[in-house]
Amino acid sequence: PAKMQASPAPTAAPTSSPAPSQSIKPTKRTAKDYIFGKLIGDGMFSTVFLAKDIHSGKEYAIKVCEKRHIIRKKKMEYIKREKDALNMLFKVPHGFVKLYCTFQDVDRLYFVLSYAKNGELLSYINKVGSFELNVAKFYAAELLSALEKMHAKGIIHRDLKPENILLDENMHLQIADFGTAKIMDPKEIKSAPVVQEEDPTRNERSRKISFVGTPQYVSPELLHNCVDTRTSDLWALGCIIYQMISGLPPFRAATEFLTFQKILKMDYEFPEGFPADAKDLVEKLLVLDHTKRIGANDKGDTYESIRSHPFFAGIDWENIWEQTPPTIS
Ligand code: ATP
Repeated sequence: PAKMQASPAPTAAPTSSPAPSQSIKPTKRTAKDYIFGKLIGDGMFSTVFLAKDIHSGKEYAIKVCEKRHIIRKKKMEYIKREKDALNMLFKVPHGFVKLYCTFQDVDRLYFVLSYAKNGELLSYINKVGSFELNVAKFYAAELLSALEKMHAKGIIHRDLKPENILLDENMHLQIADFGTAKIMDPKEIKSAPVVQEEDPTRNERSRKISFVGTPQYVSPELLHNCVDTRTSDLWALGCIIYQMISGLPPFRAATEFLTFQKILKMDYEFPEGFPADAKDLVEKLLVLDHTKRIGANDKGDTYESIRSHPFFAGIDWENIWEQTPPTIS
């Protein structure tokens, strides 16, 4: 069974503790500490509810997983992965959904997450059709900045897509859904990736691909199932930049199989009028050979070669999270 401890995450913020008192030790949380409200998301293995902490009145998004379902589908590893990755990212001030605590009862596992009030980036793309260039540039910059933080800690997401990119109450981006993340040694992540045929998590990943039904953002090397590299997230960044500007992801087909074929053949086109700088960056991210993608050989904690690409001209990288995001219209 999944090893979820009914205790707050080590880094749990004071806001998730029961009534403040110096003398009383915070007790373990249970579902009774929250009033469960509307359903805000439904994943393969979980249901996400808006919930109010009865002690503080604060709102959280609580991800609930049925133990039976997790065990039946052999997804215990996903749960552990998500918990480990989110705990590692808890202190990063921006760019990620926060995991405040986890607990369980007989039937279910609970993840108490920060509530990203404005929902999925995908809804905004679909609502407005496509983003103005300055909007696409801003969110691409926030996404790159979050990827830099994540990769510096040794975490590869492996399932980045506009459904997993959420927006907080101030319309800043937060990455969610770390169930398929790969956690590596932060030093190892920057060196040339090693092909490991027998990694069981990779097999799980390929199984997951066949479950999810949104395979458009998966990189060729993940499809080949033979290598773990942070540049798989940069491939997804290329797909997401393309989608923010054109409205649709670059690789689309009637079936999952045909989508995979298109990815492996790099069969995609830019619509007329696609801005030249954006096109150039997307072309440098969507490169079959992952070692030749822009950023693949950057050594520091930031992707300097991507930051300095003309597409990002004018971005204030130091203050991006403090800025007011441009309005999506
Ligand atoms: P998947 O089937 O994509 O793997 P999952 O079971 O891992 O899904 P998530 O992707 O984490 O679940 O969550 C499902 C949906 O719930 C998200 O796409 C989003 O719409 C919503 N959601 C998840 N976490 C939050 C959050 N912290 N704040 C607001 N909405 C959230």
